[in-house]
Amino acid sequence: MCTSIPYLPRQQGNLSHCDRLHRGDIMDAGGEDLRPLLRVFAILTLCIAALVPAGCSGTEPIPPVREKTTPDTTVAAAPLTTTTTEEETPMQPSQTTTLTIVYDNNTPVTDGGDALRTAWGFSCLVETTGTVVLFDTGGDGPTLLHNMQELGVDPASIDIVVLSHFHSDHTGGLAALLDACTPDSVFMPQAFPAEFKAQLGERMRVVEVTGPTEIAPGITSTGEMGSSIIEQGIVVQTADGPALITGCAHPGIAKIATRIAEKDGLALVMGGFHLKDSSDAQIASVIAKLEQLGVVRVAPTHCTGDRGRTLFAESYGERFVHVGLGSVIVIPETE
Ligand SMILES: [Zn+2]
Ligand SMILES: [Zn+2]
Repeated sequence: MCTSIPYLPRQQGNLSHCDRLHRGDIMDAGGEDLRPLLRVFAILTLCIAALVPAGCSGTEPIPPVREKTTPDTTVAAAPLTTTTTEEETPMQPSQTTTLTIVYDNNTPVTDGGDALRTAWGFSCLVETTGTVVLFDTGGDGPTLLHNMQELGVDPASIDIVVLSHFHSDHTGGLAALLDACTPDSVFMPQAFPAEFKAQLGERMRVVEVTGPTEIAPGITSTGEMGSSIIEQGIVVQTADGPALITGCAHPGIAKIATRIAEKDGLALVMGGFHLKDSSDAQIASVIAKLEQLGVVRVAPTHCTGDRGRTLFAESYGERFVHVGLGSVIVIPETE
């Protein structure tokens, strides 16, 4: 029914990759040794207090980076649209793409996930042939790292971190993650606060995204979207076609999907659709738009809301992918 991922060495977790496809109920977040986190907060709270925004739903502070280990390496990304001297190279689809939800407020949808901790926020591990990207970092570090361990994800395997937008339920796990690993770079919208970017830039390479930008071979940013809340999603070129992953989709999931689908189509849209406060009519309008765009499969979670997920499931039928914490989507599907 499922296979391991031979190209990506991982630490031994309590669950194998195959097990991760069959996990179940939630755990609370008790029992964690919070002393390292408290130490980080003690050092950083004073200097970051002015930067803390309200999250999509929570109010957790965003732990910033606490050590200066490298020179300032904050750089601006070169948008794909600025390439004029060379012919645009079409992105090659990854042979295998694996999407693993490592942080989510929706409980596991299959058996075997008793040890996972469900909490408000979102984080998704994107594995392509050759690159491992962590898209968003959830709301807090201990929960993120705990779930990674349970899911057999080695933080050291992460090449690149991408932050969708400046809400604590998507950035809260970053500091603890960077204590556990050293990714090559962190991509974020240029709209992120200057102080946040500067602090992070003292520690590692920060890439500021404005327009559509290549993150890694076969993985691009949608570019900054929205007005009041600036956000980026990522597009992964899979064997089935482009897959769009969104954190909260504050600019509107239909609007984000339109930017991608009108050019290349969309085989999958997954992540937070931000429909939790929307009416049935509004949700129906979004579903109709995604259908019109030709979005083949949808995997809504995080801030989509139960009603939104239900209506998507009714409309999309077998093309609705029921996901929650710990869910793994492998493209192409392996039997
Ligand atoms: Zn948000
Ligand atoms: Zn959110």
